[in-house]
Amino acid sequence: QAKAAGRNAVRFFDPEMQAVATANAALASDLRQAWRDNHLKIEYQPQVGMDGGMTGVEALLRWEHPVRGTVQPDEFIPTAEETSLIIPIGHWVLEAACAQLAAWAKRPDRAHLSIAVNVSVRQFRHPDFIDDVMSCIRRSGIPPDRLKLELTESLLASNIDAAVAKMRNLKDMGVRLSVDDFGIGYSSLSYLKRLPIDELKIDRGFVKDILTDTNDAAIAATIIGLCRSLGLEVIAEGVETDEQRAYLARQGCHRYQGYLFCRPLPLEQLEAFMQRLPGGGGTVTPEPSSVA
Ligand code: C2E
Ligand code: MG
Ligand code: MG
Ligand code: MG
Repeated sequence: QAKAAGRNAVRFFDPEMQAVATANAALASDLRQAWRDNHLKIEYQPQVGMDGGMTGVEALLRWEHPVRGTVQPDEFIPTAEETSLIIPIGHWVLEAACAQLAAWAKRPDRAHLSIAVNVSVRQFRHPDFIDDVMSCIRRSGIPPDRLKLELTESLLASNIDAAVAKMRNLKDMGVRLSVDDFGIGYSSLSYLKRLPIDELKIDRGFVKDILTDTNDAAIAATIIGLCRSLGLEVIAEGVETDEQRAYLARQGCHRYQGYLFCRPLPLEQLEAFMQRLPGGGGTVTPEPSSVA
């Protein structure tokens, strides 16, 4: 009798739940193998000013699966978090970003570029996180303000004071902080002024229908206005058309990221892309028509 066996037992023998659990376990062991076999790769997506000058890139994980092809991070980051694999993987992304920044720091035409690294909640909460960031910066010898860490609002869900204290530590090192996917979280706006952050990223979900959905347009415009009055940088993600870019520019958005300018690319292709930019990517070239 299911009732007599208790709730947990009922759940355990639910065939659907069982199937999900089995699939999760398979994904976890696959991911562990991929990590050991160096099948995780990093792509870089340019971030660009509304004036057309590239300001940096965001590092984005890819899983080059021998059978399935490229697996996108939304499919494996949750598993990486559940299994704690995100700790070594996240550390590796941070190391790679700092190494790339060190290489760019030696080139006058690349030294202005920043790299944004996504930090998962689990990674941020790890007691060694601050020391890890500090030692990465020291060993690579990079100017700390070239490294940007993208945090999410979910990080503030539990102990906000502890989170803010950690963010202060990072700011004291000179690292820049960005709040990713802004607008989809549950937090109130009032906490914003307490946060030692440099930038907000408008979630792609609001940008997508910005020209047709008046609510999305209003939300994006409000976030931009808020950033400008709080003295924060604001960047929009997922900009695919010039009309979206023009709307955001008119509202006063500082920068954007999206397929309109460039997709995420492996490093060599990114270098080739930058080489084709005006001035070989080394100069900021204003587009007089971009700000309406
Ligand atoms: P995110 O940080 O919000 O990254 C932006 C996502 O938007 C990326 O998806 C990017 O490829 C995509 N994107 C950029 N421009 C456009 C566009 O114009 N149109 C559309 N449709 N999409 C665009 P991606 O690479 O699949 O990454 C998904 C998420 O996985 C990221 O969202 C981030 O939360 C997470 N992620 C990626 N790399 C890492 C990492 O190294 N560590 C952690 N913790 N999370 C990561
Ligand atoms: Mg991000
Ligand atoms: Mg985002
Ligand atoms: Mg997003």
